Amino acid sequence: LASRKNAGEDSVIQIKNLAIGKSPIIIAGPCAVESEKQMECIASFLHDHSVPILRGGAFKPRTSPYSFQGLQEEGLKILKKVSNKYNLITVSEAVDESSLELVANYCDIIQIGTRNMFNYQLLKKLGGYSNPILLKRGMSATIEEFLTAAEYIMASGNKNVVLCERGIRTFETYTRNTMDLNAVAAIRELTHLPIIVDPSHGTGRKSLVLPLSKAAIAVGGQGIMVEVHNNPSEALSDGAQSLDLSSFKNLLLELKT
Ligand code: PEP
Ligand code: MN
Repeated sequence: LASRKNAGEDSVIQIKNLAIGKSPIIIAGPCAVESEKQMECIASFLHDHSVPILRGGAFKPRTSPYSFQGLQEEGLKILKKVSNKYNLITVSEAVDESSLELVANYCDIIQIGTRNMFNYQLLKKLGGYSNPILLKRGMSATIEEFLTAAEYIMASGNKNVVLCERGIRTFETYTRNTMDLNAVAAIRELTHLPIIVDPSHGTGRKSLVLPLSKAAIAVGGQGIMVEVHNNPSEALSDGAQSLDLSSFKNLLLELKT
């Protein structure tokens, strides 16, 4: 189902009036929904700059159990409220079956994160939902395993899958992960599904987000997902890789050029 062989043209995933798989799209927002004030500030900025999709995690799969775990349903309510106000499409991560039900109800797009790409039982549940799925690559998944995970979702009955390269684990420690742009170009050959790139988790460093965003589009990525925060130094998660609003505005200008 995911293979390029059996499909003529690139798939285009339609969400409201937005098409993913045509011209490059931008998803932006904080790593985690923290408060209504924070989300209001970021959402109004996206609206003013014509960025169509707002991200924000409510169920956060943090490396440490002592780190902020997300506002859960309360976070999804905030995401829904601000996105309605500013007419934005939303995406948030589901981490298990119960959060899946909630994310599907409150959000347009369901994100499956790197840690769950290999959770085949969860992938099979996605067939029961009509929301498009943003499937992130497992941090140690081969390209074939990544595409097979997409196949699980499609075989279960949900054909609206958008892939996301978010960096893989290598011996390098200077960056949080190693952006695998080989994979983006290869995946354009191997599948008709759209693929976007997440340079925030891919690099872990805000200074590298702009150059890797440009590179992502240059190799054929059909969009980027960027972590943006109104006050990155106070962010409850991933502040070091989050762009402030003026750096994000600069990224938008540079990408346009
Ligand atoms: C995220 O996008 O919020 C996230 C947790 O990313 P990943 O699953 O790629 O680490
Ligand atoms: Mn994050």
